[in-house]
Amino acid sequence: MDKQIILLPGDGIGREIMESAKLVLTAIAMEYNHKFTFHEHAIGGDAIDKYGVPLPEDTVNACSSADAILLGAVGGPKWDSIPVHLRPEKGLLGIRKSLGLFANLRPVKGFASLLHASPLKEEIIKDSDIMIVRELTGGLYFGQPSERRENGNVVVDTLYYHRTEMERIIEKGFQSARIRNKHLTSVDKANVLESSRMWREIVNEKAKDYPDVTVEHLLVDAAAMKLITQPNQFDVIVTENLFGDILSDEASVLTGSLGMLPSASVRTDGVGLYEPVHGSAPDIAGKDTANPLGMILSAALMLRYSFGLEEEASEIESAVNECMEQGYHTADLKLNGGKQVSTKKMTEIVLGNLTTKRISDSICNSYV
Ligand code: ATP
Ligand code: MG
Repeated sequence: MDKQIILLPGDGIGREIMESAKLVLTAIAMEYNHKFTFHEHAIGGDAIDKYGVPLPEDTVNACSSADAILLGAVGGPKWDSIPVHLRPEKGLLGIRKSLGLFANLRPVKGFASLLHASPLKEEIIKDSDIMIVRELTGGLYFGQPSERRENGNVVVDTLYYHRTEMERIIEKGFQSARIRNKHLTSVDKANVLESSRMWREIVNEKAKDYPDVTVEHLLVDAAAMKLITQPNQFDVIVTENLFGDILSDEASVLTGSLGMLPSASVRTDGVGLYEPVHGSAPDIAGKDTANPLGMILSAALMLRYSFGLEEEASEIESAVNECMEQGYHTADLKLNGGKQVSTKKMTEIVLGNLTTKRISDSICNSYV
């Protein structure tokens, strides 16, 4: 398989963890005889420093013709004083929007050996395995330009959705439930919002096409509560942009660390952007302490969703799981005992756990 992959390391720890993902993909390409060609481009604060804008045209063009995109993270205090419309985060919102990546998929599954690192009780979170399907290019974050009126005393943010935008994400939710455990929880606020009423109508219509999937409607406030009291009652959650943003960060608590979680932003033809759930972690940037696993697991999602390489994706996931079983962890996982390692060391361990021991050894040697 011959694929063109764009790398957008971005800011903070983005560059360090991107290097880890690239090494893992290189090892996989050698093992399975694929050709992955990497092209690096600027986004976020990195792009502001180099070109004065968070999303240069060159980056958009490169991403438009790529097979898939890997992103590290954007943002940091360095760019805090920049006007909102030019902030690093606008680069990320812009690339999702311009590529039409409307579906954000976040698998939330705890590693058995990390359950005790979660602030929640082990018996509550064990066996939880959730897929959050969040709408990504509409709703409040993309309404009419936000504004302040009447001497700055009145603010306006608009929530705008077209029926087709809701239909495609809801469809994605049903498809995901069908290939998982056939239970779909649709989250809305239909007791208050007109947009949620249309959302619910569409879910009920689509349900007729998926008689094998059980559908449950939950108001977002109830969903937020249930997510930490009975997380193992969920299979797939489908929801709009704002609710999905909040619920997916909340769900990350189930796994013990933000640093472990991958995400995929895709459209219907398979092109996608893959990034860890965490941000740029400026407090630890450049220290070789960041957890690279969320980024490495994002690369695995890329292989699965954009390239259909299930075996290769599973191999990476197993290698990561093995690291946990072996007791290795980075500083963010506040574990008692085990072996605390650096970003680079963790990457080497993942490489060593891939079945291609010989190949990964040679990559490791060139890395250290
Ligand atoms: P954003 O707004 O970009 O989502 P954030 O404000 O949510 O950013 P993060 O950058 O995700 O913040 O960082 C939150 C905390 O988690 C910080 O203390 C950071 O150091 C830590 N953190 C985030 N990602 C990692 C990682 N991969 N490894 C170790 N620690 C991390
Ligand atoms: Mg965040």
